[in-house]
Formats: sequence, structure tokens, C-alpha cells
Amino acid sequence: MNQIIFILTVVIALAGLFYSFRRVFLYMKMLKPFYIKDYGQRIVVTLKVAIGQIKIFKRPIIGAMHALVLWGFLIILVGTIEMFVDGILGIDKSLSFFGIFYDIIFALGDIFALIIAIMVTIFLFRRIFLNIKRFSGIEMTHKAHLDAILALFIILSLMISLLGINVFYYAHNISVGAEIHGVYPVSSIIAGLFANTSADTLHLLERINWWFHIEAIFIFMNILPYSKHFHVFMSIPNVFLSRLTPLGKIDTMTSITEEIKSMLAPETAFEENEEELEDLQRFGVLDVEDTTWKNYFDSLACTQCGRCSSVCPANITGKKLSPRKVMIDIRKRMKEKAPSLLKQGKTFSDEKSLINDYITTEELWACTTCNACAEECPININHPSIILEMRRYLVMEESAAPSELNVVFQNIENNGAPWQVSFEDRMLWADNIILNDIKIEVPILADLQAEEKQPEYLFWVGSAGSIDDRYKKVMQEFIKILYYLKTDYAVLGMEESDSGDIARRGGNEMSFQMQALMNIEILNNYKVKKIITCDPHEYNTLKNEYPDLGGNYEVIHHSDFLNSALLSGKIKLNKDTFAKNIITYHDPCYLGRMNKIYSSPRNIISKVNSKLIEMPRNKTNALCCGAGGGQMFKEAEKGNKEVFIERIEEVIKTGANIVVTSCPFCMTMMTDGIKYKNKDDDMKNLDIAELISASL
Ligand code: SF4
Ligand code: SF4
Repeated sequence: MNQIIFILTVVIALAGLFYSFRRVFLYMKMLKPFYIKDYGQRIVVTLKVAIGQIKIFKRPIIGAMHALVLWGFLIILVGTIEMFVDGILGIDKSLSFFGIFYDIIFALGDIFALIIAIMVTIFLFRRIFLNIKRFSGIEMTHKAHLDAILALFIILSLMISLLGINVFYYAHNISVGAEIHGVYPVSSIIAGLFANTSADTLHLLERINWWFHIEAIFIFMNILPYSKHFHVFMSIPNVFLSRLTPLGKIDTMTSITEEIKSMLAPETAFEENEEELEDLQRFGVLDVEDTTWKNYFDSLACTQCGRCSSVCPANITGKKLSPRKVMIDIRKRMKEKAPSLLKQGKTFSDEKSLINDYITTEELWACTTCNACAEECPININHPSIILEMRRYLVMEESAAPSELNVVFQNIENNGAPWQVSFEDRMLWADNIILNDIKIEVPILADLQAEEKQPEYLFWVGSAGSIDDRYKKVMQEFIKILYYLKTDYAVLGMEESDSGDIARRGGNEMSFQMQALMNIEILNNYKVKKIITCDPHEYNTLKNEYPDLGGNYEVIHHSDFLNSALLSGKIKLNKDTFAKNIITYHDPCYLGRMNKIYSSPRNIISKVNSKLIEMPRNKTNALCCGAGGGQMFKEAEKGNKEVFIERIEEVIKTGANIVVTSCPFCMTMMTDGIKYKNKDDDMKNLDIAELISASL
């Protein structure tokens, strides 16, 4: 009878689960594709991030607590599988033939049951009694809190009943002198309390706990797909499906490439892709049916832990944007619209959409594309990519970019720079560079090639380096270093145009690709192999994004270039120039988080003999300066503070008298911050190149 009841409950539980997963599968099938390859790399990421929990350990105490719960679950899972087999076959301890392995796993399971019970009790205490900022936010409804508390109680009851099974099994077998399968370090101690209980009662108590435990699992696993705790099933697979490209790389819209090709050569452009064109959908994402199935998967896997929002510069400074809310909104909207989409097809409309009815344009334009959220997310969700897709819709379908960005797009199109300047002005920065009374002439690639010379490096100046008054000075100092090093280089001069980084992050993929294709044609015609640049945005675009469009170069950021020259002894520094200074270093998001260059700038600072004081938020955790993603060119969204002020306050707290950067945008924001705080007399902002050139 027990077996029949058990099998019946298994069938009902699995049928319920099958129904829930089938529904999710059908929803995913309606969405845009997401292709999976590089399985080996995915397994490594899963082992490191999901099983090894390396991201969670950034906050060691709470990270260790979460990791213990996950590892405990994985061990206890073996015991749960045994319960299934026992229940179906009507036997006890069916896996005990594994001998010593069985003993080890069950000993660990017994210990982990206690550890998880303790951890979950602490989590419950934090949720209910402590005001943890990460757990709040406009997206965290009362229901979401209750949901979390309910799930924690269920887990606690599962651990208590598991310990109950072990305790009463152990006490019963001791009392009747039966063999004990497995080792129970925790339960064997607790079992001592029941030494005087009758064997029948102990057996009954063991059975009650057994049935409670297994039925609670069945109920829990059927509640999960409808609660925020669906992540229990989805988060490990979501890590397996992680983006494997650098955080800074934005995927190329091939439909736009086709459009541009069609403009350039209308007769050939569509030859290869007629099928694709028949299925042409709108640019970017307006509503859930425009997303990929991976976007929906992300929203189901999101644990709603709030780590992303807690590091988001926009959220920290009181703006409406919360990356966690973006995930929650996608899931909510899918739940609302998907059943009708399934029944009535993709043309179904309920006169609502993800943009506006769930996520406002104010939220979307507040993003600095700093990728702090993606870096922090324990399950590798990439929020900026979906935010960018929505910006793409606004810009390319609705022409609804903020007015300042529209001006930037026009300038890029007309002048090859985000500012209103002419191409002729692009070389003014190089007019008067003097080192030791010698005027340095900056070589132009076209001139060198006319003399049949091919320099080793192309120095990509970038729009900011060519036009921004402060960064022009950095360019001049860097040229002095190149001259000192006798580097074989040249610049494109007036042939250089904006890389398209700002246009792309502002959602204008068309403008980006036009710029990129034009630049790539010039670079490839000149057979450029190696590029040095001082601008991390240009570095990221040239290195990570141009290859998609046929531009393959070895791209070197000047901090790496200068560090190598220092390490190889080619640069000898005067150690006195900055000897009495205290320096703090602001990591540019596009150099650090997105391209993992952390040590070169720090090594350079150590070589100029200054004291380096790190800000609390540094390296992977560094706070954005607030300029990226087109923000530097537009008014910030409403909040309680501007991002650059939040960052400069952190700079000032270090007590440093120099804040070093290695990015033109960061330099602008730091300089503005210093002025805003009236610290011009106490603090300077220098580029890493200026540290070296002043010390030559
Ligand atoms: S997106 Fe990631 S970091 Fe943000 S709440 Fe979800 S799981 Fe946590
Ligand atoms: S990329 Fe930066 S600004 Fe944008 S949502 Fe993520 S953390 Fe916030």
C-alpha cells in the first residue's frame, strides 16, 4: 500500500512539473533564437561560477553561507534520489551497496542538513528583522518578500525532517540491534536523547518524517515554477548559458549590416539572406516577443538577490533604473502576454508593451553601460545587453533618443566625432609638441605609405583625444613618450573618424556600423596590424567589436604598452617627481571590468614612487564615473545625486592629492567632480601617461 501511494504521488508530482516546464518551453519556443556553442568553456564556467560559487565569495561571510547551502543541497540530493528508489521499490537504504562512498555522502548530508538549517534560520532572521537595503526597491513587492520567507521556511522544514529521518532511523536500529547503513555524525548524537523511547515509536517517528520530507519536496518542486524560487531549477543551467564574450562586447546586428550593404550595393545585398529577410522583425526590443529565449531564461533564473542593483551607479544615486527590476519586469510581462501569444500567434496585441508599461524610457536612458550589474550577478545575467536592445528599439524604430544624443548622432554622421567640429580640426592637438626644445612631428600614415614605409603601430587618437581640450594634452604627453621610446608609429590624422562606440551604446547601431565599416576599410587598406590607443572605449570597440565586421587587429591600451616598456627597462623614470604624492586610481569600466586590465596602471603608479591608496570600490567593484553609454553627452536622469559626485566623494575620502585615470571620459568626470567639490587646490587629475612623461 505504501508503495502504491508513493508511486501515485510521484506520478502526480512529475505530471505537475512536466506541465509547468512544458509551458515554459512553449513560451521559449516563440522567442528569438540564442545559439549555444563552446560547450567545453561553458562547463568550465559552470564549475567555477555555479558550483565553485566564485562570484558569491566576493562578500566572504555571506558568500560562504550561500555556498554552504548550495553545496549541501547537492550532497543531500543523493539522499533524495535514494528516497525515490526506496519508495518505488518498497525497500530501505537501497543505495547502501556503494559502501564507503555511501557512508561519506550520508555523513556529509547529515552534517549539511544541520548547517543548512542554521544558515536558513539566519537568512530568515535577516529577511524578517534586519533592514537589508538589497532586499528592498520598488520592484520588491510585499508578495515577493512573503514568497522568499515561505520558501526559506519550506527549506528549513525539509532540513529538520531530514535530520528527523536520520535521528529516528539511527535510534530505532540501535534499540533493536539492527545494522546501521551510512554514517550520521550529527543525528547519532541527537539520537541519544531518545534512548528510552520504544522501538515502535521510533519507527513511527522515522516514517512520519520520511513521508513529510518526500511530500514536502513534491509540493515544493511544484510551487517553484510559479514563485521567485524557480531559480532553484534554472540558475545552474543559466550559468551554463552565460555569455562567453568580454563584458564590453556588444553583439552585432546582422540585419543592420545587411541594410548597409543594400545601401552600398543594392543589387547584391540580399542574395544570401532572402529567407532571413522574409522573417525581418523590428529592430531591438519593444515587447517580450522581441526578446531571445535566453532573455526569458535569465528572468526565470534571477534569484532577485538584488546584488546587481546594489552596485548599479544609477540605482545607487537614486535614479529609477534597477537592473533587478528589468529582470522581474520581463518575467511579469511574459506571464501576462505569453498565454495569448501562444493561442493567437505573434500578431496578438493587448495594447501594452514591455517598454513604457513596465520599463520606462527614463530607466533605460539612465544606464551608463558600466556592466557592474553583469559582473556582480551570481548567475551571470547580462543586463546591459537587454537594456541596449530596448534602446535600439527606441532609436531605430521610434527615433526617440534624448535630444542631446540625437545631436551627437548627427555630429558623428557629419563630422566623424560626437562634437561639432570639422575633420580638419582633428590634428590640431599635434601642432606644437615640444620635448627638450625639440618640436616633435607626429607622423601621418598616408605620408609614410607614400614613402613605402609601414610603421609597426598605428596610434588611434580617438575623438576625445583629437578634440577634448584636456585630453589633447594627454595625447601630447603620450607622443613625447613614443618619441622617447623611438616607437615606429603613425596616426591616421584627418582620415580617422569616430569609432562609433557612443552611437552603438546610445542604441544607434546603424550609425555605429557605418562608422566601423568606414574605419575598417581605411585600416585594412593601410594593412594596419597593431593599434595603440589611450581611450578604453576605443580600445574595447576596436578590439572586441570590429572583428565582427572584418577588422582584426592587435589592439593595445596605452597602460599595457607603457607598463611593458617600464618592465623591459626601456623607460627610466625620475623617482623624485611624484615621490611625496598620494595617488588613488579610478578604474575605467571599459578598461577594468570589461577588459580586465587592472594591474598595468597600478604597476605604473608603483614605479613613480608614490603611495597608492585604493578606494573601497576598486577593480571589479569599481564605481563608474557616470560618463559611459552616452551619459557624458546628456543630462542625467533624476536622482538624488550625480554619479560623478558619488565617485569623487570616494576619491576625496582616500586623502589622495592625485587621482589617476586612463580614460578621457573618466578624466572629464573626475575633473568636473574636483571642481564641483572646490578641491582644485588640493587635488589633481592625471592620466597614467602624464605620470610617466613628467617623470622622464
Ligand atoms: S539579476 Fe542577478 S544579481 Fe540581479 S537580482 Fe537577479 S540574480 Fe541577483
Ligand atoms: S550597466 Fe551599470 S548603469 Fe547599467 S544597469 Fe548595469 S550597473 Fe546599472
